[in-house]
Amino acid sequence: MTFSLSPKHDSLEDYLADRAPNQPEFHQAVVEVMGDIKPIIDQHAAFKDANVFARLAEPERMISFQVPWQTDEGTIEVNRGYRVQYNGAIGPYKGGLRFHPSVNPSILKFLGFEQTFKNALTGLPMGGGKGGSDFNPKGRSEAEIMRFCSAFMQELHRHIGPDIDVPAGDINVGGREIGYLFGAYRRITNRFQGVLTGKGQSFGGSAMRTQATGFGVIYFLNQMLEAHDDGVEGKRVIISGAGNVATYAAQKAVELGARVITLSDSNGTIHDPDGLSQDKIDWVRSHKAQSGASLEAYVDAFGGTWHSGDTPWGVEADIALPCATQNELDGSAAKTLLKNGTMAVVEGANMPCTADAKQALRSADILYAPGKAANAGGVAVSGLEISQNRTRRPETADEVDEALHQIMFDIHSVCVEEGTRDGAVDYTKGANIAGFRKVADAIVMQGVG
Ligand code: NDP
Repeated sequence: MTFSLSPKHDSLEDYLADRAPNQPEFHQAVVEVMGDIKPIIDQHAAFKDANVFARLAEPERMISFQVPWQTDEGTIEVNRGYRVQYNGAIGPYKGGLRFHPSVNPSILKFLGFEQTFKNALTGLPMGGGKGGSDFNPKGRSEAEIMRFCSAFMQELHRHIGPDIDVPAGDINVGGREIGYLFGAYRRITNRFQGVLTGKGQSFGGSAMRTQATGFGVIYFLNQMLEAHDDGVEGKRVIISGAGNVATYAAQKAVELGARVITLSDSNGTIHDPDGLSQDKIDWVRSHKAQSGASLEAYVDAFGGTWHSGDTPWGVEADIALPCATQNELDGSAAKTLLKNGTMAVVEGANMPCTADAKQALRSADILYAPGKAANAGGVAVSGLEISQNRTRRPETADEVDEALHQIMFDIHSVCVEEGTRDGAVDYTKGANIAGFRKVADAIVMQGVG
């Protein structure tokens, strides 16, 4: 039997193996989405005629370049830089830059693919993109990070612009790196324009962009719980990661009365049964801002236990928020969460659940939200930053927070609308279908060259 979307291939897996060999993360993301959208394609001749599937299973453009830069010792290192302009049907490409040794085409293509659907869900005119480098900032000095950002922009500036592609931050790219990247862009081009988001507020950044992804995760979680006449107050929450998304999700959860009992990093997990406070979260943020610092030092400062090399998923809790990286929660961790009576799993990271874990969580009687819906708050506020840069009128933190609330509310509503079956909401299905419809309609309406 041949795969109905491609006469030459027996299955979607065969198609991807042929078109994008050795890209497991990319295959994982596409297979998951296709499972939900194939029935929609089958029902719409226009989507089939325009071959929307094949056009979404491949980036529109992918740029790969050399980044030579100088260390403090004066030696020259060479990293590889990328920008994946995944799909621009509904707006200029938009998505973060990641600096991590694991960065490769498979990871950036999966992130660009997911970003395309996520950006569509925000209701704002943003296409999907992603980029970054295999540069490892751990152990590098501030001056080396600045030189690397500058060298990276030497090439990237040719491919971005307010009407072309507007990158932002991601893993290991925060406010400091965005500042260096923006400075390099301005020096190279002599243009002060909204070409990056996540900027400092003194040079065009939006209030609340730093907090937006983590806060948005909790606003989304609250919507899910409120639909069941429940809320986060009093709930035990386990969170992975100790970076931007994890710490702001923790902060908002604590503010709303939850007890956050774990955080983690690439070295291990801290378990603090007393729960994190604002002071403890502030300490984590400033400690982790030191290059290469391990979370282990938390235990000396505040008590609790350190679990070297472990993830948080074995700790009993009501709510689990994976906020570190892709494939950090596998099938056996999902079984443990279900056995421990976890009532909600909400993804702060992009694709943190393996395919097995996702399958187990989607088929269980719990609340489970995918990253493309739950972590869309960050890119949504980036979208608002673009508007503020256009009009040169900054908005207040209260105005942005209110807009963020509304966008997360709307994403929740559309997921419920598209994902309800037999009285239960499949948020993954809802998000995939709603995001797909918007992008696919735009692709069809724009024809081909
Ligand atoms: P940060 O760099 O701020 O933090 C990443 C955290 O994850 C760090 O604590 C890091 O630990 C940990 N981590 C990274 N890799 C691994 C690994 N292989 N195993 C265990 N822990 C790991 O990144 P963000 O918080 O910005 O991003 C986290 C996730 O959220 C990513 O999936 C990102 O794509 C996603 N996301 C981010 C958005 C944003 O606005 N920043 C928007 C939407 C999604 P260590 O310090 O030890 O490296």
